[in-house]
Amino acid sequence: MAGRNIIHAHTEKPRILKRPKHRISRRDIDPDALKIIYRLNSQGFVAYLTGGAVQNLMQGITPKDFDLVTDARPGQIKKRFRNAFIIGRRFRLAHIHFKEGKYIEVATFRREPDEKEEAALDPAHRYKMTYGTPREDAFRRDITINALYYDVGTESVIDYVGGLKDMASRKIRIMGDPGGRYTEDPVRILRVIRHSVRLGFEIEKKTEHAIQSHRNLLGEVAGARLFEELNKDLTLKTPLVFEAYQKYEVLKYVLGQAGEEYDRNPILFSRLKTLLEIRESAVSDGFQFSREEVFALVSWPWVESRIPDEKEDAYKNLNETITKAMAGSWLTKGLRADSIQILVLTHHLIQALRTGRMRWSLQHRSHYKQASRLCFLIEKGRPPQGKDPFASLFHSMYPATGTKRRRRRRRKPRSQASPDTR
Ligand code: ATP
Ligand code: MG
Repeated sequence: MAGRNIIHAHTEKPRILKRPKHRISRRDIDPDALKIIYRLNSQGFVAYLTGGAVQNLMQGITPKDFDLVTDARPGQIKKRFRNAFIIGRRFRLAHIHFKEGKYIEVATFRREPDEKEEAALDPAHRYKMTYGTPREDAFRRDITINALYYDVGTESVIDYVGGLKDMASRKIRIMGDPGGRYTEDPVRILRVIRHSVRLGFEIEKKTEHAIQSHRNLLGEVAGARLFEELNKDLTLKTPLVFEAYQKYEVLKYVLGQAGEEYDRNPILFSRLKTLLEIRESAVSDGFQFSREEVFALVSWPWVESRIPDEKEDAYKNLNETITKAMAGSWLTKGLRADSIQILVLTHHLIQALRTGRMRWSLQHRSHYKQASRLCFLIEKGRPPQGKDPFASLFHSMYPATGTKRRRRRRRKPRSQASPDTR
């Protein structure tokens, strides 16, 4: 592949940046990551901090995770750390676990096998052939600014790939031939867009051009992998990341059928963006959303546009419509079922606000609490407040309407009952 040839032809020495020419301090590095580095170093292994964490620290951003890379093989790591677990088949990595589900990923320097090597390998043993030097490891990564190493011992940033230059000019660049690298792994397209949005960096020209010609390859990526990416998108700057995804027309790959419509319908997309912005501001105020709530929120504008008219009968197949549209998407079965329940309930609550008629028995449904919050967020355009935001909103709009218990005492004879008590 074209990208590989360029990578392997590279023989230059790394550029080394020492303190005080960079601002990384040991104090900013996760203490557990530091412990792992010190232990590996004391046993004669090289161990660097790498990935997004190095460029984050250089820019004064708190990293999301601290990825390490070493010349110790996975088996050697496992022997030295009681809490290490080896994961991955082709590329074996160690996850070193700490309290409360926290773990640090420790990879071994590796390289991409060339095509001849790859063809000759027994698939079951491929990983054995892929270990490499630090330089080879840097070049098998994707974005230059995320392929830097930080050596704690010498307090130096090590750059084999031109990442420091790209950081200075605020550029997101794929190493080698972007088309070839996207073909090897189309998920890199999403990584390029996400990193450019998160850091406010421009996407380098060739890296950007190849997105258009290769984005259809995202259609072949396994759902589980896209789901993993989507979860990253939903943690930080979601409205802006989705806006960029829409610009590059890749929402359909991360959001399935709903995404396809968000890609081409600007009105629907702007509705989605507004909801995501409200959520973002709620999160920055310390509000927490469950995953199924977030997926329901992301689907809502699309669901809403499918509700045909205001007659109650028209909604009886809503559950079925949503289920069909979400079927085959990347969501896990349980998450999909929960999101659908929230969407259907949210729809009922919004209807209640429109008509003034509420079936209070819905309060006993298992997803009521989440639907109550979502309904408030959608209707009021601000983060939900209180235990039951929907009920407070409903009572403020219809002060005369009581709760289920009060209604029962006042119930009229059956023939005169109003429709909401059915
Ligand atoms: P984040 O800030 O989201 O953690 P990251 O770039 O560190 O961003 P990770 O998923 O933590 O992303 O991956 C760690 C490192 O592994 C990356 O920085 C990159 O060097 C390398 N990497 C990850 N995914 C790929 C990929 N698809 N192709 C090549 N290298 C990758
Ligand atoms: Mg990372």
